[in-house]
Amino acid sequence: MKIGFIGLGNMGAPMAANLAKAGHSVTGFDMADVAVDGVRLAASAAEAAKGQDVVITMLPNGAILRAVALDVLPAMDRGAALVDCSTVDVESARAVAAEAEAAGLLFVDAPVSGGVGGATAGTLTFMAGGTEAGFAKASPLFEIMGQKAVHCGAAGAGQAAKICNNMILGVTMIATCEAFALADKLGLERQKMFDVVSTSSGYSWSMNAYCPAPGVGPQSPADNGYQPGFAANLMLKDLRLSQQAAEAADADTPLGQAAMALYEQFVEHENGSGQDFSAMLPRFEGRGRG
Ligand code: NAD
Repeated sequence: MKIGFIGLGNMGAPMAANLAKAGHSVTGFDMADVAVDGVRLAASAAEAAKGQDVVITMLPNGAILRAVALDVLPAMDRGAALVDCSTVDVESARAVAAEAEAAGLLFVDAPVSGGVGGATAGTLTFMAGGTEAGFAKASPLFEIMGQKAVHCGAAGAGQAAKICNNMILGVTMIATCEAFALADKLGLERQKMFDVVSTSSGYSWSMNAYCPAPGVGPQSPADNGYQPGFAANLMLKDLRLSQQAAEAADADTPLGQAAMALYEQFVEHENGSGQDFSAMLPRFEGRGRG
């Protein structure tokens, strides 16, 4: 397939490299000066998009996606597909989908989970929204860049799934960390806490697969000085998107809201910026109730 790839950052670069490695013809564009194995670079987003079967975007946010779409959609051939793998607000995904449809193009919102490790290994999970035709066109590329793709529904459904999943993740990580900090103060050894909770009803991905306590459970960023991993800044971004969506949809999400406020405090006013999101544990460790 002929593929345009716009946004060759931490995630986009390895994803584009995997597509090229699999034998696809990949033309990339990024505002920054980048080089990606096997990817020919274009001078603009429109040039990277011109004449391609599929154009993939992997950009920081919805405003940038909308701006890039303005350049890219007019350059694409009718019947081609724009596949946005960025994490953006549901409204931006739906707005770009409508513009693409009006131009006779397919659109799929397909945010990912799996992080930079998954992007490099080609083991991402894609959560896709859009038409059957769009999903079918993008599926062979999802198979190269990832290990699983779920068609969640119409345009925006992929972003909805992503932010709901990450709202659960943010809340359970905080719950896991505050429980460890309480256990410390009750004199309960962390290893014993893990042994019980990881096999009891408090278990979760945060405890079992990504334990925030160093030296306990599987290898995780906690064992590496809380280097990300999944940065607290990105968790804050996703929690903000969840609360923006909750407001737009009039959904009551008190724990999502509290998780957003805590990550905001941690990232913007404490030392959380640049740390893994599981560094909530050392944050709680040093605190009392006051
Ligand atoms: P990044 O900042 O490393 O990459 C974004 C790239 O987009 C940068 O290289 C930037 O120069 C480029 N860019 C910005 N504006 C542009 C424009 N107008 N035209 C062309 N290029 C432009 O970010 P990332 O970590 O690769 O994340 C990308 C997306 O993936 C984000 O939406 C993020 O939320 C999501 N995501 C990231 C992770 C992760 O672990 N890093 C995990 C899941 C999802």
